[in-house]
Amino acid sequence: MVLEKYKAKRNFTSTPEPAGDPKLAEERAQHETTAKTRFFCVQKHLASHLHYDFRLEHRGVLLSWAVPKGPSLDPRTKRLAMMVEDHPIEYGTFEGVIPEGYGAGIVMLWDVGTWTPESPDVDAALKKGDLKFTLDGYKLKGSWVLVRTGGRYPGGSGDRSWLLIKHRDDWAGEVDITAFAPKSVKSEGDFEDILAQDRPDVWESHRPAKGGEAGAMLAKIIDKAAALKAGRTPSPDAPAPAAARKTAGTSSQSRTGRARAVKTAAKRSTSSTRSPKKKPAAKRRTT
Ligand code: MN
Repeated sequence: MVLEKYKAKRNFTSTPEPAGDPKLAEERAQHETTAKTRFFCVQKHLASHLHYDFRLEHRGVLLSWAVPKGPSLDPRTKRLAMMVEDHPIEYGTFEGVIPEGYGAGIVMLWDVGTWTPESPDVDAALKKGDLKFTLDGYKLKGSWVLVRTGGRYPGGSGDRSWLLIKHRDDWAGEVDITAFAPKSVKSEGDFEDILAQDRPDVWESHRPAKGGEAGAMLAKIIDKAAALKAGRTPSPDAPAPAAARKTAGTSSQSRTGRARAVKTAAKRSTSSTRSPKKKPAAKRRTT
């Protein structure tokens, strides 16, 4: 059964995540046979640990890898990518709060666009453990590869562990893209904005991350979200990003516009003009 593992892990009465419509999966799989490009997205997910879920559309579902440190534009930096269960195609535009259960935390749509396989037979490439592809997203572009490690990588396990590596091209660079472009491509907000749209008090008694970096990060985000919700200025030790403040009163229009762009991303076949920056600051330094 398609998406069996995905469904087994979730209780759809308590999570806002999509259950996955088999008819849509079938339609997308059909479309794939003629389409040159397919949907891809990256979701930044603060759960028990912060990670980036990298998803490529294939055969009507989203093949998924959890990348703890997120993608790197530097070809010398190989990023561990743990293959996880396939996700429904509808998951590709999901952003929101998972209040409890599997994956409890905050999901941000961090990048979205299309991908093109660089080898004609994707199934054979996956089986071989060497999938080369081109991305055309807001943040990630150019040629990349996912290589299965066979468990030789520290922190990896068995045939689930892959490496996500940027190929050397015009879109490669030393900028830390996760720090340079940390926010949502759907709502343009940060984690606290997403939480404030939902229920900032959701984890009063049972936080998905309690200790460590993720726990500290989540505690700050909960404070900021509560302040945003209450219309207060967050406390000085937890300053909200200037851009979020600036657009707080007028964001609904741009939010809608961007959300529409995201919704159509799955349908578009090519995109060369949608990125605000042709080369996303590859040569620029981060702070
Ligand atoms: Mn995740």
